Amino acid sequence: MKKYKRLILLLMSTVSISWAQEYQQKFEQLGTILPTPNSYRSASGRPGHEYWQQQADYDISVTLDDLNQTITGSETITYTNNSPDPLSYLWLQLDQNKRAKNSNTYKTDKSSIRNSLSAKSLQAITRDFNYDGGFKINKVTDTEGNALAHTTNSTMMRIEIPNALNSGDSYSFEIDWSYNINDRMLEKARSGYELFPEDGNYVYTIAQWFPRMAVYDDVNGWQNKQFLEQGEFALPFGDYDVEITVPADHIVAATGTLKNSREVLSKEEYDRFQRAKTADEPVIIVSDSTAIAKEKAPVKDKTSTWKFSAENVRDFAFATSRKFIWDAQGVLINDKRPLAMSFYPKEGNPLWEKHSTEAVVKTLQTYSKYTIDYPYPVAISVHAASIGMEYPMICFNFGRPDKDGTYSDGVKYGMISVVIHEVGHNFFPMIINSDERQWTWMDEGLNSFLQYRTEVEQYENYPSKRGPASSIVSYMSGDKSYIRPIMTNSEQILQFGNNAYGKPAAALNILRETIMGPELFDYAFKEYARRWAFKHPMPADFFRTMEDASAIDLDWFWRGWFYGTDHVDLGIDQVKWYRIKQSEKTVERQLSNKKQKVGGRRENHQAEKPSDFEGGFTEFTVVPTDGRYYGEFLARVDDEGIIQNHSDQNFYEITFTNNGGLVSPIIIEFTYKDGTKEIEKIPAEIWRMNEQVATKVFVKEKEVVNISLDPNGETADTISENNFFPKKDVKSRFEQFKENEK
Ligand SMILES: [Zn+2]
Repeated sequence: MKKYKRLILLLMSTVSISWAQEYQQKFEQLGTILPTPNSYRSASGRPGHEYWQQQADYDISVTLDDLNQTITGSETITYTNNSPDPLSYLWLQLDQNKRAKNSNTYKTDKSSIRNSLSAKSLQAITRDFNYDGGFKINKVTDTEGNALAHTTNSTMMRIEIPNALNSGDSYSFEIDWSYNINDRMLEKARSGYELFPEDGNYVYTIAQWFPRMAVYDDVNGWQNKQFLEQGEFALPFGDYDVEITVPADHIVAATGTLKNSREVLSKEEYDRFQRAKTADEPVIIVSDSTAIAKEKAPVKDKTSTWKFSAENVRDFAFATSRKFIWDAQGVLINDKRPLAMSFYPKEGNPLWEKHSTEAVVKTLQTYSKYTIDYPYPVAISVHAASIGMEYPMICFNFGRPDKDGTYSDGVKYGMISVVIHEVGHNFFPMIINSDERQWTWMDEGLNSFLQYRTEVEQYENYPSKRGPASSIVSYMSGDKSYIRPIMTNSEQILQFGNNAYGKPAAALNILRETIMGPELFDYAFKEYARRWAFKHPMPADFFRTMEDASAIDLDWFWRGWFYGTDHVDLGIDQVKWYRIKQSEKTVERQLSNKKQKVGGRRENHQAEKPSDFEGGFTEFTVVPTDGRYYGEFLARVDDEGIIQNHSDQNFYEITFTNNGGLVSPIIIEFTYKDGTKEIEKIPAEIWRMNEQVATKVFVKEKEVVNISLDPNGETADTISENNFFPKKDVKSRFEQFKENEK
C-alpha cells in the first residue's frame, strides 16, 4: 500500500513538471457558444421586449375504475397562439405510449444476461407482464363534433387544424381517451398504481394521464422530441378545470383548489379541513382509524366526483385511494398562506405523520426566500413506494418504515430529503418552467442546490448527500469516459444523479460560498427566479442573469463546470522562502557594491526545489532603483524607506499548478510558527495568463511552518496529497473512509 502511494506521488510530480504552457481558452467569453440575444431573449438574461409564450387551458373529466385499474377521460383544450407564427398543426404529448407494446423505449433499452439473474430482472428483459399499455385515443374533434385529422408518431400526436391558427388566435378541440394503469411494482414508472396485498386495496398516483400540449417556443419551434424515459417534460402554462370520479370512499389529492369540499367530505372532515388552513401544526383531516375501516369494507358500487381548478400551472396530477390518511396546515409566506398537506396509507406511519407536512412547510419557507413567494394555494406530499416525482402543487415520495413501524435514520432522512426535493420542484421546473426534455440540470441541479440550503438551514446536523463541494469529488475525479458535461441532452447523460443533480448543486454551492459570496449570489439567483417565474428560461438566460446582476465574469465558470468534464486539482509545486539580505539593508552600502544586479545575487538561485522550510530562508538583495524605471517622471520613490519597511519580513514565493484542468480560486492557509493560522483567497483569474502554472509572492511578518490549499474542502479539489508544503503523507479518501467505518 505504502509503496503504491509513493509511486502515485512520483507520477504526480512528473505530471506537474510537464506544464508546457498550453492555451485552452478557459477565460474566453462564451460568445459563440451562447445563442445570439434577440428581442425574445435579451443579452442581459431577462425575457426580451417581444418575449412570448403559448397558453393551453384544459377542461377535463376523468373516471378511475378501481376494479379494472383503468382511466377514461375526455378533455377540451383551448390553445392560444401568442407566437408571431401561423400554426397549421398542433403537437400533443401521449406519454403513456412509452408503455405501449411496440414502444421505442423498450426497443432501445439495453439488456444483458449474467450468470445469475433474478426472476424480476428476467421478467423485465422478456417483458412478461401481460400488460396492454398506451393511450387508446377514442375521439379527436373540434367543438362542433367534426373529426380532426390526426397522426400518432410514438409518444407525439399531430392534430391538423382546418385553418391555420394565426398569431393571437385561440382554438378549442376535444379528445376522448382511455388507458390501462400500470403496476409500478413491475417496472420503474413516474405514475401508476401500488397494490397492497394484505387488504387488497390500491394507492393510485396518476400523472402523464391526459393528452398534453407540447411546447412551441422561440428556441425549438415545437419541442416534440420523443419521450423515451430519462428526458422529462416540456409543458406550456394554462388554467385547468378537472373533475375526477372515483369510488365514493376514496380521498383525492390533486393539483389545484378543491372546489366541492362540502360535497365530497364528511361534516367532520370538512370542519377539520377549514381549521387546518389557519393551524400552525398539522391537523388530521382523515385519521388512520377511518382509513383502516374503509380498507376493510371498500365501497364498490358508488362513486363521487372531486372538482379541482388550478390557474397558471404547466401540468395536473392526482393521487387517490381509500387508504389515505390526510393531514394539513397553513404556511405563512408573507401575505399568503398556502396549505401544506400530506396523504399517506397507514404503511407510511409513524414516519409520515411526524415528518412529511413539516418538511413541506420548511421547503416552502426556504425556497420562497431564495426565489419568489410560493404562489399556489396548496403544496402536497403523497406517500408512494420507491419513487420521488414532482408535479405542480403535488408530488409522490418514498420512505416506508418496516412492518412493525420502526425505521432507520437512513429511511427517515431519505424520506425528508425526497419530500424537500419534490416539493422544491414546484419552483424548478413548475414555476420557473425550463425544458426538461432538453436540460435536466436546469430543474434538478438548481433544485438540488436549494434542497441543500433547506437541509442546512431548517434541520440540525442534517446528513446531506448532495450540495457540499466534497460530495462531488469522487465523481469528478473518476474515469472521464463515463463523464459527460452538464450541458448534455437529458437522454445522453451518463451517471445521471451525479451529472444532473450532484455536480450542478455542488457547482452552485461553490459559486455561492467561494466565488461570488452569498450576498451577490443570492441577489442574482433570486433575480433569475423573478425574471423567469411563469416563463420558459433557457441555460443562457441563467448564465447571463447571474453575471448581469452581480458584475462577476463567470464565463470561465460556466465553461469549466457546465460545458466541460475537467476536475479541480490544484497543487503546490514549490515554495521558496526569502528575506532581504541583512548586510545590505541600506542603500548606502549597496551603492558601494556596483556588482549587484536587479533581482538578487547569483548564489541565491536554488539548484533544487526545497521540500520544506528546514533549510532556512534564502537572502535576496534590493538595489537602488535605476533611473530608467522612472521614464519621464522626475519624482523618485524613497528606496531606503521601502527597504526598511520590509527588512524583517518573510517572502514566500509559491508556484501553484493546475493539474485537473478546471480553473479554480486558490484558497491558501498559512500556519505560523506561533501556531496561528491565516487564510488567503485568490480569485480564479490568477490563471488567466497561464492556465497551468501560477507563481505569486506572499509577504508575511511571521514565519510560516505550513502551507495548505483548500483547507476546508470548499472547491472540490480532488487530490489532497499535493495540497501541502511541506508535503504530508495524506490518507487517501478510501483510507479515510475505512478509518471512519471503524
Ligand atoms: Zn428532481
